[in-house]
Amino acid sequence: MHLLRSSSGTIGRTAGAWLTLLLLFVVLVPSACLLWFVNRAAENENLAVRQKLVEAYRAHLLLAQERAQSYWLRLGPDSAAVEHESAPALFARLVRDGVADAVVGFDASGLVLYPNDSRPSAAVVVDRRWREARVCEQTDPRQAATLYASIAADSDSPETTARALQAQARCLVRASEPAAAIELLTGPLAAEKLHDALDPQGRLIAPNAALMALELLPAEAAVRRRDLAQEIADRALDYRDPSMTSAQRRFLLRELSQLAPAVSTSPFLAAEDLAARWLAAPRSTPPEATLCRSSVEDVWQFAPPGGRLVFLHRTDALLARLHTAITQPEIPADVRIDLVPPGAEPKGVLLTLPAGSAMPEWRLALVFLDPGALTAATSARSTFYLWIGGLTVVFVVLLACLTWKLLQRQLALTRLRNDLVANVTHELKTPLASMRLFVETILAAPALDEKTVREYLTLIAQENLRLSRLIDNFLTFSRIERKKYVYDLRPVEASEIAECAAAAVRERFNAPECTFTTDIPADLPAIEADAGALVTALINLLDNAWKYSGDTKRIAFAVRAHGGSVEFAVTDNGIGLAPRDRQRIFRRFYQVRPQGSPANGGCGLGLSIVHSIVDAHCGTICVDSAPGCGSTFTIALPIARP
Ligand code: ADP
Repeated sequence: MHLLRSSSGTIGRTAGAWLTLLLLFVVLVPSACLLWFVNRAAENENLAVRQKLVEAYRAHLLLAQERAQSYWLRLGPDSAAVEHESAPALFARLVRDGVADAVVGFDASGLVLYPNDSRPSAAVVVDRRWREARVCEQTDPRQAATLYASIAADSDSPETTARALQAQARCLVRASEPAAAIELLTGPLAAEKLHDALDPQGRLIAPNAALMALELLPAEAAVRRRDLAQEIADRALDYRDPSMTSAQRRFLLRELSQLAPAVSTSPFLAAEDLAARWLAAPRSTPPEATLCRSSVEDVWQFAPPGGRLVFLHRTDALLARLHTAITQPEIPADVRIDLVPPGAEPKGVLLTLPAGSAMPEWRLALVFLDPGALTAATSARSTFYLWIGGLTVVFVVLLACLTWKLLQRQLALTRLRNDLVANVTHELKTPLASMRLFVETILAAPALDEKTVREYLTLIAQENLRLSRLIDNFLTFSRIERKKYVYDLRPVEASEIAECAAAAVRERFNAPECTFTTDIPADLPAIEADAGALVTALINLLDNAWKYSGDTKRIAFAVRAHGGSVEFAVTDNGIGLAPRDRQRIFRRFYQVRPQGSPANGGCGLGLSIVHSIVDAHCGTICVDSAPGCGSTFTIALPIARP
């Protein structure tokens, strides 16, 4: 029986372990797959949102591309204007209108028209008086001034007059007569007829003379200084007059910016400087008809087809110009279109497109003003998916736990049924075999005396009783396990129950080898109990006391009222129990049977039945025992309330 029980238990446990593993597999694999899918779905959602935005904004970017392209195309007519408009005037117009930071104009043969640095100038006849005056300049500036004055007075040529007056003014300054010099510079030298007179280097004399007067004027003459500075500026910025070279303009404007900062020279001084630097730097000829870096740092050049004009742009100004050109009022407020120069890597870009054939390597980028907005839009969806996924996994896990519990229960029941079948068949065989043996012996003997026959019949009756007990126990156990046992709890006298149990065993216990004592006071309080079930429990304890005692048995059955309970104690002088077994004997089918010991007619159900019955009565059962020292099993049940 031991073997049978343990093998069915092991098989049950192995099946349980496999089922648990299978369940884990069934839960974990789909959960992992589900989470993977959810994650992929969230990623795809992000991509889809991005794609939608890209599609929505692509039209804006294409329009910007078109506008950028037409911005450069619009420069073509300006370039053609060099044919009929004077180069300085064209320069001034384009710079003033902010079309470019500077412009360089060429003639049809590729020579620079503007900004030009020199201009041919007529030579003056140097006679004896000129030579004398020049010699005197160092030694006697006063005298030299007089000589230059006489040359100017005698001359009919504006060039000679202007140069002589300029030299006279220079000598007066050397002779420490600045006031006279100022009068000369702002008076005769500013006369209309000397307006276009040039010095030997091709520079206009009048504006240079005015500048000299400005330098000489004392700070107190503020009004005069201001008027004079404005006059010089007007002259320097008069681009309709082609007689002034770019070099002289640059010089005058730069000096003015020092001497009279209040006079505005913007944006022409910067434009002149930029054009001059570009001309001084090595350059490709003819310039390319696309936007490209020039040899001047941070400056871009663009020459519309024809190559007659080159537009120069500083990077920041170019970006501002193009930004204005491509800006669309209908563009959504949360995005911006940026122009990205070659090599730059902007952040938060949703989409880029080439800026067009006029701007090779430049890109148009659609930039999110708040890069977090895109993430927020997509992460809300992702969080939603993750929640759904998480909840589904939790639901699956809960379902699996429930299934696992049901399976465990089903397994336990299956195990129980197997154990029961194995035990019942085995345990029923023993008393039946004994009875058959006695009956066969009686039948086989030719003549048996009455005493022997009675002895055999007594033994058969005992085996029969044992068999009945066994079957009773099985039935009770089966009903309890199937929850089919209905307890009929009602107040009953504890002494009545105790007497009933004692009476059931008394006849058997009255054997010569057994001393059975009872202590059942008549005045015991009533308890609330199912009398039949409780008697069964007590008979089981008394039966065990008989079974597990040696050849000389001393069994005591005492009942007493104690602390709100009635205690039923069965004491024997039997084999006793080890501490380890005292905990386990109440489990079903548990038997303490040392290896090789004979069967005692039980199947390990008695105490588990007792335990169930005591539980149903809200009572307790305890055992006090030690190996070889006997045992006392005590059932305590609460006293019935009046
Ligand atoms: P069984 O049918 O084997 O008697 P029980 O459930 O009644 O089943 O008892 C379980 C085990 O507890 C027994 O096998 C026995 O070893 C031990 N046991 C029960 N009563 C006593 C007792 N009075 N003295 C010693 N051992 C006992």
